Amino acid sequence: MDSGKVLKCSFCREPAITVVRYAKLRLCKKHFTEFVQRRVLKTIDRYGLVDRGWRVLVAVSGGKDSATLLHTLSTLSKELGFEVTALHIDLGIGKYSEKAKEAAEKLCKALEVPLVLLSLRELLSVELPELVAKSKRPACSVCGLVKRYLINTAALELGVQAVALGHHLDDLLPYIVKNFVLQNLGGISKLGPKTETEEVFVGRIRPLYEISESEAALYAHIQGLPVVEEVCPYAVRGESLEEEIRSFLNTVEAKRPGFKVAFARAVAKNIEFYREEAEESINKCGCCEMPTISNICAFCKLTARVLGKPMGSDVRIKVRRILAEVKTL
Ligand code: SF4
Ligand code: ZN
Ligand code: ZN
Repeated sequence: MDSGKVLKCSFCREPAITVVRYAKLRLCKKHFTEFVQRRVLKTIDRYGLVDRGWRVLVAVSGGKDSATLLHTLSTLSKELGFEVTALHIDLGIGKYSEKAKEAAEKLCKALEVPLVLLSLRELLSVELPELVAKSKRPACSVCGLVKRYLINTAALELGVQAVALGHHLDDLLPYIVKNFVLQNLGGISKLGPKTETEEVFVGRIRPLYEISESEAALYAHIQGLPVVEEVCPYAVRGESLEEEIRSFLNTVEAKRPGFKVAFARAVAKNIEFYREEAEESINKCGCCEMPTISNICAFCKLTARVLGKPMGSDVRIKVRRILAEVKTL
């Protein structure tokens, strides 16, 4: 290949900044932006993710994936006739959380999207590191549990129709493969473009389902979206089974462009089958009345063990108070 040659965009005379091999396109900044937005639009359309008149709660971590998600959704919301509200959870993980919160605030201000801010310290009087240390569980498992609970609580209290998550192709496929290998077929149903659960839960949508990690990062970079540069100190990459699978999938993708998207679409086509495998009966938590598959929800169990009291009810009341202000926005 001639390294001195500047590749031109497939649609205009501008220099290409990227090559999308599976679509056989070289794209300049403007056309790459349009390409991602169109792809998200098609994903929403293909899988019926959002309806006109809906209010969607977008979980914004401060990272590039959720920044790309919020930017594309707020751009498309005008055309598709839905509203977006952002939610950021301040986990209290030192400098990382400070920077993440700053990025989320800047992003929402720039996009003029209302932001709901929930802080673990405010809600529980402890922050994630303390919860992790006392629970003796892996940090990401405690973090995931707490975030799921707060997202569910905020979504239910706000009365939104869906929660949008920034999971992209490269987040989801490794877990789909892992669940398949372990024959946890029900688990796959929670990794598709949308997860519809019992009425009491608010469904999750994943508009970046067909967007790769590098596309999401490039989009955030091109748009100059404020994102946290620090990495969460608890993040582990490179050692897990999911990482091995991710790198295997990328090797196949390099040889057969389009493989990952085709794989994701095939899974989405069979999602009903996986959902049937997942059949779980939903109860109300005996402490906080939030939906759970057991008698006491995981959040109340964790807080009872770590803080000496199930905190679900208290947290729900505090979240309701915080949200009362946002509802009127
Ligand atoms: Fe939470 Fe783990 Fe992500 Fe850090 S890396 S924000 S602990 S899930
Ligand atoms: Zn172009
Ligand atoms: Zn509970």
